[in-house]
Parts: sequence; C-alpha cells; structure tokens
Amino acid sequence: MDLGIRGKTALLCAASKGLGKGCALALAREGVNLVITARGREALEATAAELSKYKTTIQFVVGDITTAEGREAALKACPSPDILVNNAGGPPPGDFRDWDRDAWIKALDANMIAPILMIRAVVDGMIARKFGRIVNITSGAVKSPIPELGLSNGARTGLTGFIAGLSRTTVRHNTTINNLLPGAFDTERLREVYPEGPTESDLAAIPLRRLGTPREIGDLVAFLCSDRAAYVTGTLITVDGGLTRGLV
Ligand code: NAP
Repeated sequence: MDLGIRGKTALLCAASKGLGKGCALALAREGVNLVITARGREALEATAAELSKYKTTIQFVVGDITTAEGREAALKACPSPDILVNNAGGPPPGDFRDWDRDAWIKALDANMIAPILMIRAVVDGMIARKFGRIVNITSGAVKSPIPELGLSNGARTGLTGFIAGLSRTTVRHNTTINNLLPGAFDTERLREVYPEGPTESDLAAIPLRRLGTPREIGDLVAFLCSDRAAYVTGTLITVDGGLTRGLV
C-alpha cells in the first residue's frame, strides 16, 4: 500500500532508541524527511547514520523535549512538520507515598504538558496546510493502570483526556491526533522498569507470549501518519500482543 506521505516532513521526539527509533525507521522507509530528537548525541548520530540509507533528509537535534529549551531547539529545526510524533522517557516506578509535588510536576511536564505544548506549536500550521498527523506514544497503562507506575498512569491519562477533545476539532482540517498504547516492548525502558527482564509469568500473561519489537510500533505509526488514515482520530490504539483484557 502506498501510504502517500513521500516527501512529507516529520518531527519525531525522543527517537534515537526504542519505540521512537522504530517510528523513525518506518517513516524513513516511506520516504518521509525526518528531524529526530533525544538528549544524548551519540545514539542520535548512530541512528541518523542508520537512517541515511533511505533517500530522505535526516536531521537530528540534541535536547530534552520536556524542557522549554529542548522544544525550542526541536521546533527551530522543524517549525512546520506535517507529522509530529510525541514521545519522551517514562517516569520512574515507585510508591506514591514517596512522591512529592516536584515528582508529580516532573511527570506531568514530561508526559502530559510537553506533548500538549508541541501540539500547540504545530497544529495550526497543519490545519492551515490541510494536512497534519500527530501521534502520541503513551502506554497500555492508560487503559490498564500499572500500580507501581502511578506517575505514568496519572500524567498519561491527563494527556489522553485533553487529546480526546482536541482531536475532534482538528479532523475536519485533515489533521488527526491519535494515541498509541504500547504493552511490553523489548527496549531499554523495559529493562529500566524490570531490571531482571520479564519473568516467565510476565511473558505468559501476554497472549502472544513475547515482547513487542519497535518495528511493530513503527509500522502502525507510519499508517496512522499516512494519507490513508484521514478518518482515524482521537483513538487509543493498544499494541500489546493481546495483554489488555477489555472490549475498548
Ligand atoms: P527507550 O528505549 O529508553 O528510548 C527512549 C528514547 O527517548 C531514547 O532515544 C532517549 O534518548 C529518548 N528520550 C528519553 N527521554 C527524553 C527526553 N526527555 N527528551 C528527549 N529524548 C528523550 O524507551 P522506549 O521503550 O522506547 O519508551 C518510549 C516511551 O514509551 C516511554 O515514555 C515509555 O515509558 C513508553 N512505554 C514503553 C513501553 C515498553 O515496553 N518499552 C511500554 C509502555 C510505554 P536519550 O536518553 O538520549 O534522551
């Protein structure tokens, strides 16, 4: 299927590794010009080099997307993207009794307010140009909260509620906003939350009996960002090998 986005420009936040990198690879394969961001230069350089085999323009920006400076740098390099993928590291696990106001503000800044501010910066240009695709990488925890990831559960559901409203106002201008909810993926983040790796019983809880791969996120994001997906907005798409039990 031709996704119809060859030559478009995408700004991919937090995309030197893991799920963000999976999205970068999938969009580059479709001929999309990319600006990718992350805090660490080394991995960004390596990923940009890997992406260079696709005949598109690849730029990278070093910066923390959860800060005003990081967002400014990303937007300076890519002020008018056709596609925006919002992503950032997830908050640490823990017990809510240990989290003070600052811990909550940090989580809200990273996983709720940063994506909203990125959308605010680019969405009106998308509306004016009559093409925009925004995908927020959130978490399966939005539908099926994980007790020890309370900061993530709280911040990401806040983002989801906001997007539910906004996405209905932009779609008539061919500008969609969707949320992708990963289950358990084989990335550094997973090893951060589960340093020993997933146990046999963790894997047994996943009907597919394995972790997901970043490519399995990337390909779906590429479709959501395609010309073909104009009728899809405001959705919460779970990609988890069947882990989340539920009808919606
Ligand atoms: P990952 O493999 O650790 O990769 C994270 C990427 O984001 C790296 O490129 C990292 O580079 C960059 N990054 C992190 N914080 C950043 C920041 N503040 N500003 C700019 N770039 C930043 O993680 P992942 O598994 O892809 O996870 C991505 C998101 O999906 C996280 O929010 C995670 O909580 C969520 N998620 C993951 C899973 C899973 O199973 N993996 C499941 C559900 C939800 P630098 O460190 O150099 O900045």
